[in-house]
Amino acid sequence: MHQDIERILLTEAQIKDRINQLGKELTADYAGKEPVFVGVLKGVVVFYADMVRAFDDHCQMDFMWISSYHGTQSSGSICVKQDVKSDLRGRHVVILEDILDTGRSLQFVVQHLKDKGAASVRICTLLDKPEGRAPGIDLRADYVGFSIPNEFVVGYGLDYNEKYRNLPYVGILKPCVYEK
Ligand code: 5GP
Ligand code: MG
Repeated sequence: MHQDIERILLTEAQIKDRINQLGKELTADYAGKEPVFVGVLKGVVVFYADMVRAFDDHCQMDFMWISSYHGTQSSGSICVKQDVKSDLRGRHVVILEDILDTGRSLQFVVQHLKDKGAASVRICTLLDKPEGRAPGIDLRADYVGFSIPNEFVVGYGLDYNEKYRNLPYVGILKPCVYEK
């Protein structure tokens, strides 16, 4: 598995330090609010497990599973494969996501959770590709682990054909992997 990686972009130690910082920020910002952390499956699982443990106060956990269909046109449509189970009315929601790219997924998820009556909805993403935003989408995350260039990355939950999610770091694949 490791031999398929051309370059490590973020090491395990860098990610750990940054998540601890984000945990402190979130703990201060959500004091007394008992937020609901909604994880967007599956890519978020590794980040989610670390992030909730860096949050040092009461919170609730929930998950959503969405899928996006991209046709020949650039606008993909998104559907809910599995919805959150908690009652979000009046709750402060923090969406946890692995990566913010075009912004289509998160734009959909934010609206979906607002429609459920959440008092507030904010985004916390491990990675952000600011250059990836689709035309017309002006979405910004409230908490960002790392801003990265517009390159395809794997590891720390992120996959290529369902592989590499369990890499403890974030890296870029060797071009020959795509030719297999
Ligand atoms: P978007 O912001 O484009 O709607 O969607 C973000 C989703 O696209 C992520 O949750 C992830 O599943 C996928 N994605 C975007 N960029 C990358 C990347 O560099 N690597 C991987 N593995 N997935 C990505
Ligand atoms: Mg995702």
